[in-house]
Amino acid sequence: DLDSAAAPLPSISKSNIEHRWSDITSYAAKKKVQSWFQLPNGNWELGKIMSTTGTESVISLPDGKVLKVNSDSLIPANPDILDGVDDLMQLSYLNEPSVLFNLQYRYNQDMIYTKAGPVLVAINPFKKVSLYGNDYIEAYKNKSIEIPHVYAIADTAIWEMTRDEVNFFFLLSGESGAGKTETAKIAMQYLAALGGGSGIEYEILKTNPILEAFGNAKTLRNDNSSRFGKLIEIHFSETGKISGAKIQTFLLEKSRVVQCAEGERSYHIFYQLCAGAPSALREKLNLKDVNEYKYLKQSNCYSITGVDDAEQFRIVKEALDVVHVNKEDQESVFAMLAAVLWLGNISFIIIDNENHVEAVADESLINVAKLIGCDTMDLNLALSTRKMRVGNDNIVQKLTLSQAIDTRDALAKSIYACLFEWLVEQINKSLAVGKRRTGRSISILDIYGFESFDRNSFEQFCINYANERLQQHFNRHLFKLEQEEYIQDGIDWAKVDFDDNQDCLNLFEKKPLGLLSLLDEESTFPNGTDFTFANKLKQHLNSNPCFRGEREKAFTVSHFAGEVTYDTTGFLEKNRDLLHLDSIQLLSSCSCHLPQAFASNMLSQSERPVVGPLHKAGGADSQKLSVATKFKSQLFQLMQRLESTTPHFIRCIKPNNFQSPGSYEQGLVLQQLRCCGVLEVVRISRSGFPTRMSHQKFARRYGFLLLENVASQDPLSVSVAILHQFNILPEMYQVGYTKLFFRTGQIGVLEDTRNHTL
Ligand code: ADP
Ligand code: MG
Repeated sequence: DLDSAAAPLPSISKSNIEHRWSDITSYAAKKKVQSWFQLPNGNWELGKIMSTTGTESVISLPDGKVLKVNSDSLIPANPDILDGVDDLMQLSYLNEPSVLFNLQYRYNQDMIYTKAGPVLVAINPFKKVSLYGNDYIEAYKNKSIEIPHVYAIADTAIWEMTRDEVNFFFLLSGESGAGKTETAKIAMQYLAALGGGSGIEYEILKTNPILEAFGNAKTLRNDNSSRFGKLIEIHFSETGKISGAKIQTFLLEKSRVVQCAEGERSYHIFYQLCAGAPSALREKLNLKDVNEYKYLKQSNCYSITGVDDAEQFRIVKEALDVVHVNKEDQESVFAMLAAVLWLGNISFIIIDNENHVEAVADESLINVAKLIGCDTMDLNLALSTRKMRVGNDNIVQKLTLSQAIDTRDALAKSIYACLFEWLVEQINKSLAVGKRRTGRSISILDIYGFESFDRNSFEQFCINYANERLQQHFNRHLFKLEQEEYIQDGIDWAKVDFDDNQDCLNLFEKKPLGLLSLLDEESTFPNGTDFTFANKLKQHLNSNPCFRGEREKAFTVSHFAGEVTYDTTGFLEKNRDLLHLDSIQLLSSCSCHLPQAFASNMLSQSERPVVGPLHKAGGADSQKLSVATKFKSQLFQLMQRLESTTPHFIRCIKPNNFQSPGSYEQGLVLQQLRCCGVLEVVRISRSGFPTRMSHQKFARRYGFLLLENVASQDPLSVSVAILHQFNILPEMYQVGYTKLFFRTGQIGVLEDTRNHTL
């Protein structure tokens, strides 16, 4: 579980550690050098090696203590001059403790951004840090600051895009609560400041409060957790001014509308509406207090510390005005929200001895009917019966209590999800780029990071699949960048191996025997169940090295970020995501325009138009695209777009699980660095020649160590002389046109000698 607070520090295996002292062959004198060693609690501590005899070393700690430790457990630390470097690639030793320490060193000084080569690492400060606002925007715009920052990346993007007519792509990743959404907003702030002028930037910024109100909720991990993925594409004119934008959303967590865990909340907007609606609206919608709605009551949590829901409601309404959702539509939106809340309060009574039910004709039923604009009788029928075609006959089947509750909840979820989609559509209309598209855009993708919980379900399955795809793109892109730099400097590019995750992607995508195909196949079988699905996986995929069948209905996938065991309970139902035709028909018969729009939208999303009003026996409407298929095609479109853009990766890290400032847990950070590929960057570059220094700099820095006088020689000759004198093995470096390229650790050796000599 990535989120458990007391996660033990992962043990370091040979493959993910940089190197131990024993691996550095050319370095004999280890005396007085700084070294990492691991405390019993898993944290790393810095010590000085006093002496080494055989397998044992004596080290002294900063507090004066002296310890005897196993030499093999010591890991080289970087020389002091490298403390807190801006870019992890500048580290001479790129091992895990050094990376952790460097990030922590900076974090303690509120320097939350650090580069790892082409990746920006952002560590969530969980407090206001003074790094933002107009002064900083100006400074980055004038290039008077060079400290890594989201602004700096946004600035590069704007200039290169304007100059070269290219599309940029910011990919944000990280666990829930790591800071993706905030970081995206910070980037948008910068883009709006530099690309503003037309007024559309103001609209773009106002989409944030709207989408957060409808798509974010308080969870145990994050008080403002986004429950959907978001891609925003901002278009620019030839002169670098914002001309419009488009938003696409992924996988809204619908289930939260009807079900939510203790201590969490449903979507913010429900609480905002109940707290902030003016009295006329309250009366019109028959609004009650939050604690009178079952959907909101079940989790025992109504408020968020430091958040005023009523005030937020005013902010959302204002934002809706800005993106041109007119007052009438706004009222319809609020009516749909109230309808969802009242739906949850509808109860059923058993009417015969077969457990069949009908809805209780109380205030809730009447309110829902009034809010969506239908007859109470029709609503009751839609919730308690189902029309079916058996042979040539149409029959009406009565529902049991649990079927009726499922039908009611499915209707509530659908109304909410459609409302969300409808809002995004309105926003897109308002932000539309129009005809003056220039081929210059900056996109920001804020999507859930890799997830691994105690119990992993369909949502984690889709999310982790997406992350697997994004990771592949990430690896390939980094590799390409590496290669380009070598080629540019005339370095022989020997092919360096790297683990691709293609095997895992094949496990998901192969047809017909991959996870997604098998899931879809089973979802179309009327008699398919989670159990038959799990068995099918075991039957067909057990030979795949990335797959393992588990007991009961579970299976395990080896993801790039670790193994995850998925429980198939609910997979088929979530993948089918059916709303019964009876409910769709009810919505299309409503007198209000939103339910009508929702119904026609649902019908048009079917692969083929649903023919005839009646269901086949068995009830499954197999013509609708499955959730997994729809998600996969969204993902493929996204990947296609990515291929033609210049990506920038921002990896957000949360330093503790308590949303509290000032606490940095090494184990937790390390796990995330591994999961989001930061250590992968380190690994990829390590497999080549990660340390680069220009001939000039190298000669200036180490020239004085030369025994012969070479003052009159050119930097390249001086450099070569240094390399020879220090016996740096030919396979440990390459000489480029402008730079020297070193394997890891080589500069450290020179640096230590330099320090001893100075
Ligand atoms: P994610 O989208 O990754 O789940 P969020 O962006 O919602 O995470 O961040 C969670 C919380 O962390 C925010 O509500 C905010 O309190 C805090 N936070 C994140 N980034 C910053 C930042 N740069 N400065 C200050 N606080 C931040
Ligand atoms: Mg978020």
